[in-house]
Amino acid sequence: MDEFAFGSSTENSYYGPTHNPWNLDCVPGGSSGGSAAAVAAHETIWAIGSDTGGSIRQPASFCGVVGIKPTYGRVSRYGLIAFASSLDQIGPITKDVEDSALLLNILAGFDTKDSTSVNIPVPDYTKALDGNVKNLKIGIPKEFFIDGMDPEVKKAVLESIEVLKKEGAHFIDVSLPHTDYSVATYYIIATAEASSNLARFDGVRHGLRATPDRARKSSIVDMFEETRKQGLGAEAKRRIMLGTYSLSSGYYDAYYLRAQKVRTLIKNDFDKVFAECDAILTPTSPTTAFKIGERVNNPLEMYLSDIYTISSNLSGIPAISLPCGFSKECLPIGLQIIAKPFNEEMMLRIAFAYEQKTEWHKMRAEL
Ligand code: GLN
Repeated sequence: MDEFAFGSSTENSYYGPTHNPWNLDCVPGGSSGGSAAAVAAHETIWAIGSDTGGSIRQPASFCGVVGIKPTYGRVSRYGLIAFASSLDQIGPITKDVEDSALLLNILAGFDTKDSTSVNIPVPDYTKALDGNVKNLKIGIPKEFFIDGMDPEVKKAVLESIEVLKKEGAHFIDVSLPHTDYSVATYYIIATAEASSNLARFDGVRHGLRATPDRARKSSIVDMFEETRKQGLGAEAKRRIMLGTYSLSSGYYDAYYLRAQKVRTLIKNDFDKVFAECDAILTPTSPTTAFKIGERVNNPLEMYLSDIYTISSNLSGIPAISLPCGFSKECLPIGLQIIAKPFNEEMMLRIAFAYEQKTEWHKMRAEL
C-alpha cells in the first residue's frame, strides 16, 4: 500500500510498488493496491482495505475485482491508522459481489471503541442478492462523463447501463453540479486532517525515534525534526505541509473553512439526486491502470484521477466498484454504484443483478 494510504498507485510505498496482475508494468491502483492485487492474483480469497478517497474502489477497478466503501460509521475503524478521520472507512475487496456481501456481514456493526461507528442494526447483506432490479431508478450524473475520460471506459459503462435496462431498471439523467470542486475540496480536507493525525509520529509517542547528531544538535525539537525527516516519505511530507498550511492562522478561513462549506454543497447535491433515485451509476476511474512511473512525478495529475471516487467520501455515502469490461490492452474497467447512507443493500442488489448477466468477474489474470 501507499505509505499512510496517501496515493493512487502504491508507488508511495516505502517497500516499493505493487504490480498489477493483469500487466506487471502497470500499477494496481492505490492506496490498497496490494489488497486488490493479492485478490486478483489468487493469493487470497478476500482482503480488506481502507478508503478515504477511493483507495478500495480504484484498486478494485484496476485489478478487476469487487471493492466496497461502506457508509461512514458502518464499519469500526478501531485499529486503523487514521489518515483523514472524517473520511476514512474500511471495506471488503473480493472476487465477486456475493463474497463482498458476506464479508460486509462480518465487518459491519457498532463498536464502542470507535465513537463514529453508528449503532443501527446490520442487515444480512446476502438477502439483497436476488437479481431483482425491476423499476429501480438509477441516476447518471452528467458531470461524470467528462473529456478526460478514456473512451473505452465510457463505452463499457454505457454498455452496463443497457444490461441493467434489460433487467427492468430505469435510468435518468441527473446533475451533481459541484463535482468540479470535489478534488480541490478533498485535497484540502484530507491533507488538513492528515497533518493533524500524523503529528503523533514524532519520535516520542509512536513509531521511529531518530537521534540527531549529538555533537551539533541536542534539543527535543532537533529530535522531532530528525525523526520526521527520516521516518516520513516524500508524499507524507507534501501532505503534512499542504495540510498545515491550510489550517494555519490567516489561511484557515480561506481554505479549510471554505472547503468544509463546499463539502456541504457536494453532499446536498447527492441528497437532491437521492430524492428521486435509488442509486447512481458512474465509472470508478476515468482510465484503466496506468504504467508504473507514468504519473508519480505529477501529483496534480494523480490527484485529478480520483474525481469519481472522492465525492462519496466527502458525503459519507456507500459505493461499490465491480468489473464491467476490459480495454483492448486487457486491463480491467470498473463500474461504480453509489447508494443512500446505510443502504448498502441497494448497491449490492444492483451490482449482483449486473454480475449475474455478465462474465467479467469470472475472468482471471494469468500470471
Ligand atoms: N488517492 C486518494 C489520495 O491519495 C485516496 C487515498 C485513500 O483513499 N486512502 O488521497
